[in-house]
Amino acid sequence: QVPVITIDGPSGSGKGTVAALLAAKLGWNFLDSGALYRLLAFAARNHGVDLTNEEALKLLAAHLDVQFGASKSGDGMHIVLEGEDVTQAIRNEQVGAGASQVAALPVVREALLQRQKAFREPPGLVADGRDMGTVVFPDAALKIFLTASAEERARRRYLQLKGKGDDVNLASLLDEIRARDERDTGREVAPLRPADDAVQLDSTKLSIEQVLGQILSEVAN
Ligand code: C5P
Repeated sequence: QVPVITIDGPSGSGKGTVAALLAAKLGWNFLDSGALYRLLAFAARNHGVDLTNEEALKLLAAHLDVQFGASKSGDGMHIVLEGEDVTQAIRNEQVGAGASQVAALPVVREALLQRQKAFREPPGLVADGRDMGTVVFPDAALKIFLTASAEERARRRYLQLKGKGDDVNLASLLDEIRARDERDTGREVAPLRPADDAVQLDSTKLSIEQVLGQILSEVAN
């Protein structure tokens, strides 16, 4: 079996950044599973599909025309949906909220399951998400559950958006993060929770480099 390392946790825990760095360091493939839910929400809006229309979402998920790949300019992973580069477009809060809405539908999770498993190619895979260790890759060699306090995650998001020149408010970001946490942990299907055999890491007081260092020491064990 091709080895898998899963990194699950709430949004803002730093798992996306750490997972991408880890994959690059190991020379392994990388799955950003949240991007698939974001892409589905984005495609639904483009095609005028209502986010409660399960049959239409199921079809859309099964036929999502998407490519993940490095860009020619070498500035990281690019995501192309139906021929359009949507790398940045799927990152806003609106698409994130839509993603978390469609992610609560069992038909959608089922339709995206095979697509996620297909990323498991030699020499290995680092998979980032909410249910990578519990549902998609239960036999992963190493499972990390990365958390951070809601306040710290809101602060990170604030700095990130501010850096882009967005007009942001810390208190409302904290509200959004708490609402998303509640949706992700409270839903019936694949709720956000650590796998029984996951290593739990709290990144509240750690830098990205420190988190990566801790994970690499787990890999070495
Ligand atoms: O990680 P990201 O913020 O891009 O994920 C967007 C949304 O997709 C999450 O809030 C969550 O509801 C959903 N998701 C999920 N399962 C995953 C990855 C993401 O339900 N494995």
